[in-house]
Amino acid sequence: MKRWAGLEVWLGMGCVAAVFLVGLVGFAPPSAAAVLPPAAKTEKRIFGAPQTRAAEASPIPVEGKDVLRVVVDGAVTEMPLEDYIYGVVAAEMPAAFPDAALEAQAVAARTYALYQSAAGKHADVGGDVCGESTCCQAFITQDELDARWGGDAAFYTQKLRAAVAATRGEVLTYDGELAAAVYHASSDGSTRSAAEVWGGSQPYLTAVDTPEETGQKGHGVGMSQRGAQALAQQGADYREILAHYYSGVELTTLP
Ligand SMILES: [Zn+2]
Repeated sequence: MKRWAGLEVWLGMGCVAAVFLVGLVGFAPPSAAAVLPPAAKTEKRIFGAPQTRAAEASPIPVEGKDVLRVVVDGAVTEMPLEDYIYGVVAAEMPAAFPDAALEAQAVAARTYALYQSAAGKHADVGGDVCGESTCCQAFITQDELDARWGGDAAFYTQKLRAAVAATRGEVLTYDGELAAAVYHASSDGSTRSAAEVWGGSQPYLTAVDTPEETGQKGHGVGMSQRGAQALAQQGADYREILAHYYSGVELTTLP
């Protein structure tokens, strides 16, 4: 497990449990609202908040998958995890963005895909994730990309493949669990906390300054893609971008 110097020890061990007890209560990002494993739904609710995930609920394991089952247009397509991540990065972020921003996007996409998969959101149809941005994450095929990119297809394909490969197998974790690495298009100088937008709280989804004034597009929680672009243009690498938007997380390579 690779740790980020200076980021992992902001919590003393003594208060980790307390923070998690509070932090997980009521936290329900839109895509995770219906994905709690059945066992968790019967756990006792703390503080009466809806969609609680009790402290003793099964943790989201930090496990990779070689193949992901992706539900697209009602059909399940199996594909290598890293190919799926490429299709998500291409669908979710402009290919012209700096490499570091695309690399940060790849880590966030990989983390959130495995988080959603572990939660069993599409298990009823034999899938792990779907290709809808309103549910899981947007996904686009290479054929669609070739049509979109035209004469630039070879260049952008290589560029995005390289961004995914540079972060191969890397995910964000918090206290040994996969993080809910949500992201959004842009913010207005500050991101939003999960507590403000969805209620409850999550220690790594707090409001942070972001170097953009483009106006908020999306829920405003987690990484701002425009902010990631700006930070990259200022010289930040993808690790620094992720550490900026996801407070206190660790960058972990899947076993
Ligand atoms: Zn979905």
